[in-house]
Amino acid sequence: MPHRDDQSATMRSAMYYGAHDIRIESVDKPQLEAGKCLVKVAWCGICGTDLHEYEAGPILCPGKQPHPLTGSSLPVCLGHEFSGVIEEVGLGVEKWQKGDRVLIESVISCGECYACKIGCGNACSKLGFVGISGLGGGLSEYFLSPQEYLHRVPDNVSLREAAMSEPLAVAVHAVRRSGFKKGQTALVLGAGPIGCFLTKVLVAQGASMIICSEPSSTRRAKAQLAGAQHLLSPLETDVVARVKELTGADGGVDVAFEAAGNERALETGIKALKTRGTLLNVAVWSKDPKIPANELVFGEKAILGSSCYRDDHPTVVEALGSGLIQLNDFVTAEITLDDLVEKGFKELIHNNEQHVKILVSPSNKAWTPF
Ligand SMILES: [Zn+2]
Ligand SMILES: [Zn+2]
Repeated sequence: MPHRDDQSATMRSAMYYGAHDIRIESVDKPQLEAGKCLVKVAWCGICGTDLHEYEAGPILCPGKQPHPLTGSSLPVCLGHEFSGVIEEVGLGVEKWQKGDRVLIESVISCGECYACKIGCGNACSKLGFVGISGLGGGLSEYFLSPQEYLHRVPDNVSLREAAMSEPLAVAVHAVRRSGFKKGQTALVLGAGPIGCFLTKVLVAQGASMIICSEPSSTRRAKAQLAGAQHLLSPLETDVVARVKELTGADGGVDVAFEAAGNERALETGIKALKTRGTLLNVAVWSKDPKIPANELVFGEKAILGSSCYRDDHPTVVEALGSGLIQLNDFVTAEITLDDLVEKGFKELIHNNEQHVKILVSPSNKAWTPF
C-alpha cells in the first residue's frame, strides 16, 4: 500500500450503498468552502439508526429520490455522532481556528417550513442528518462542516467522550420535553444507549427515584451504572405493580420514558404513571403500537414525543465540561474504520447486550487524539 498522508487528495470513508452493503472506500477529500471548516474526525459512534439502515435500509438514507435538502442519493457517507479537530478554516469563518476541538450537531433543516419557523427545526418537514442524508459524515477521515454545526469541546473533555454528545443531546432534549422537574420520580423503559443516557440526565437533574425496566440483565447492569436505583425485568416482575409499590401514596411515577420501541413497554409506561403523569416517547417505531387510551382519559395522563434535539448542545457541553455527566464508562469498544462492519455493525447486531457505544477511529489510530 502506498504511503498516504494528510496532504493526500483522497480520504477513506464508510459509504452506504444499501442494506448489508457498506464499503470502506477512498473518496475525494472535500475542498474547503467559504463559511465552512474542514474537520479531521477523531471518534465517531455507531448508532441504532445506522444499524437499522444496515439491516433494513434505506430508511432515513435517501432511497430512489435524492434527499430534498442535500440533493444526495446513494451511496452516502455514514456517521452522525462524532468529534474532531479543525484543520482548515474557510473564508468568512471568524469563530473557529485551526486546532480547535469540536463536536458536530448533525440535524439538517430547511429553515422555511412551519416547524423551522417556530424554532423546531428538529421536526422539519424535510429533516435530514449529517451522516445519513448526504453532506458527508463522521465515519470518514474528514468532514467539511458548516460553521454553525460546530460546538467547542471543553479542554478537560476527551474527544472520545465528546463523540457521545449526540445521543446525550437526544436524552437531554427528551427530559426537557417531558417537563420533568427536580425531585420527581421516573421510569425508564429500555436500557440501550438512550435509556442509559436518559438515566444519566435524570440523575444530573435531581430525580428522587429512577426505576428501569429492561429484560436483559447485562443492560440492567449498565442502567445501574448510570444511576438507576431500581432495576426490574419485565419478564420476571409485574412492572406496573412494582412501580406502584415503590411510589407508595403517589400511585405511580411522574414521568416515564419509552426508549425501547416495544408495545408492552409503552403500555407498562402509561399504566405506571401517576394521575396527570407524562409518558415521553423517544423510541422510533417500525409498526404503530396499541395504546391503552382510557388510561389517558381517566388518569388525565399525557403522551409526548421527542425527536433528536434543538438548542440542547449548550446544556450538553456544559454538563460534560463540569463533570456533572460523565460518559466514558459507556464506551464498550474502540475500533478502526477497517473493522467497521465486522467489529462494529455485526458485533452490535449479534452481541447487542454487551455494548453501549462502539467508537470508531476513522484515521485507523495513525492519528490518535485524546
Ligand atoms: Zn444516533
Ligand atoms: Zn423545515
